[in-house]
Amino acid sequence: MRNQDLSVLPISKPAPASAGATGTWRTYKPVVDLAKCVDCGICWLYCPESVIEWEKGRKIAIDYMYCKGCGICADVCPVKAISMEPEGT
Ligand code: SF4
Ligand code: SF4
Repeated sequence: MRNQDLSVLPISKPAPASAGATGTWRTYKPVVDLAKCVDCGICWLYCPESVIEWEKGRKIAIDYMYCKGCGICADVCPVKAISMEPEGT
């Protein structure tokens, strides 16, 4: 097995093509309260779309172009820093 740089996990990333982009069907989107965030990275680890950018010591960011609005990040956040809010609000 070849040496692999595990620091680049998660392994899969959305393709930078229009095929991977979320359409207008998303009804809720995750909104992060950065004042509550404790920088644990759990949302980054669990996001099935790998659209949360996280690096220890830096604020997280969500790529809404590809976020599917599943709410998993909000469910797993230990301090409830992420809330699911209706689109367009
Ligand atoms: S709502 Fe789902 S797809 Fe969007 S950032 Fe959270 S876990 Fe990822
Ligand atoms: S799971 Fe919550 S506390 Fe942890 S990095 Fe994500 S938003 Fe911040």
